[in-house]
Amino acid sequence: MASRARRSILKTPSLRPKPYCHTSRFTTPVRVRHIHARATEYAPNHDADLTDSQRAVRASIAKLCAAYPEEYWQKQDETKTFPADFHTTLAMNGWLGICMPQEYGGSELGIAEAAVMMQTISESGGGMTAASSVHMNIFGLEPVVKFGTDEQKKRWLEPLIAGRERACFAVTEPNTGLDTLKLQSQARKDGDHYVLSGQKIWISTAQNAHKILILVRTTPLDQVLKPSQGLSLFYTGLDRSVVEITEIPKMGRAAVDTNTLFFDNWHVPASDRIGEENEGFRLILHGMNAERILIGAEALGLGYAALRRAAIYARGRKVFGRAIGQNQAIQHPLADSWMKLEAARLMILNAARMYDGGYAGGEYANAAKYLAAEAAFRACERAVMVHGGMGYAKEYHVERYLREVFIPRIAPVSREMICNHIAERVLGLPRSY
Ligand SMILES: Cc1cc2nc3c(=O)[nH]c(=O)nc-3n(C[C@H](O)[C@H](O)[C@H](O)COP(=O)(O)OP(=O)(O)OC[C@H]3O[C@@H](n4cnc5c(N)ncnc54)[C@H](O)[C@@H]3O)c2cc1C
Repeated sequence: MASRARRSILKTPSLRPKPYCHTSRFTTPVRVRHIHARATEYAPNHDADLTDSQRAVRASIAKLCAAYPEEYWQKQDETKTFPADFHTTLAMNGWLGICMPQEYGGSELGIAEAAVMMQTISESGGGMTAASSVHMNIFGLEPVVKFGTDEQKKRWLEPLIAGRERACFAVTEPNTGLDTLKLQSQARKDGDHYVLSGQKIWISTAQNAHKILILVRTTPLDQVLKPSQGLSLFYTGLDRSVVEITEIPKMGRAAVDTNTLFFDNWHVPASDRIGEENEGFRLILHGMNAERILIGAEALGLGYAALRRAAIYARGRKVFGRAIGQNQAIQHPLADSWMKLEAARLMILNAARMYDGGYAGGEYANAAKYLAAEAAFRACERAVMVHGGMGYAKEYHVERYLREVFIPRIAPVSREMICNHIAERVLGLPRSY
């Protein structure tokens, strides 16, 4: 699948990688810049480990992101404004369908290319705000791609890829949290439609979304053999006349809303159900490894952006008559962060390659997300500290990065649940929960 599309992406002039342009070692940051290589624009590292296709994706996305400098993201954050123009730019240039079938307007590339794309978007300074504004479009509809009918794919994928529709994803519930299989929202079949009632929490982009991918229970828990049975998945219009959507004030990523949803007597056409009734959890599982890989890549981008800012500041800021970056207490933590981010990046690319090759196990995708989020968090924290008081000022952007980097540590699955997964599935230890 991917090789044909990879060849085609390289044949498209606008997607061809431009010759590498190396900045001088002491170049000061410019307002609009190209993103060179994971904060390594001062090192002789030219993305040598990426494939041609990944490099082409990175070059093209970096070029588009250069039109959205850090000041843009800061303003979106301060004014709590969804970056609709950024979303449109990516849609118009065909990037929202990077993993979607060519038949519906997508590029049919792999999750490895999508990970490079999401890292580059985040690394441009857009962080989780930029990434989250398109994240759901990139891989959220994987259950539709894999299990939808031809009619559903045509009806849903084309407008999503073209950017005419935006989607949100609703699994988490207030009373059950990470214990997903106990979720309490229900759907009852009534002729040619279902009647949904319940609540969801933390649903990102619901203020701006036209559609919702939602998991609800269609057979009560006490009537199924296993808790993973009896759940059904719908992709349907987000009907604001029945669904009460309330934004949750939160720490960071203010431009991309997150919400509670309440709904009662919500009529959803049966033709909007994906796959078989009661099989929803199996369908949703399919996209989970890919989502973890993408979130990990988004975290990485933020980590590299922070590291780059820290290095620039450490070279320029003089205290006690010399650059603070001349002190090993400043240098070594940053060097350590670069090594940890690179290690996580290799893990992400490996997990993505395995996923694209058909591997369905969750240990590598989960571990990659865990390592990337932790490395990125440390890099952001260190970037704030390297800036001293200025780390706390909005002007240098690192405080925004630090607020945003908590998201990939918490969602879509927490660090603790990843450790539970590895302990149980890899090490064979008894289930602890
Ligand atoms: C900004 C943001 C955006 C989000 N967007 C979406 C979205 O679009 N759609 C969506 O469906 N969800 C979304 N989420 C929800 C997110 O996936 C959940 O917050 C996350 O899965 C954790 O669930 P919870 O908040 O209910 O935590 P809880 O389940 O209440 O857990 C709380 C803490 O206890 C720990 N814990 C719980 N059980 C165990 C155990 N057995 N062993 C060890 N530790 C345990 C957890 O690891 C966690 O640290 C978003 C969250 C955030 C913060």
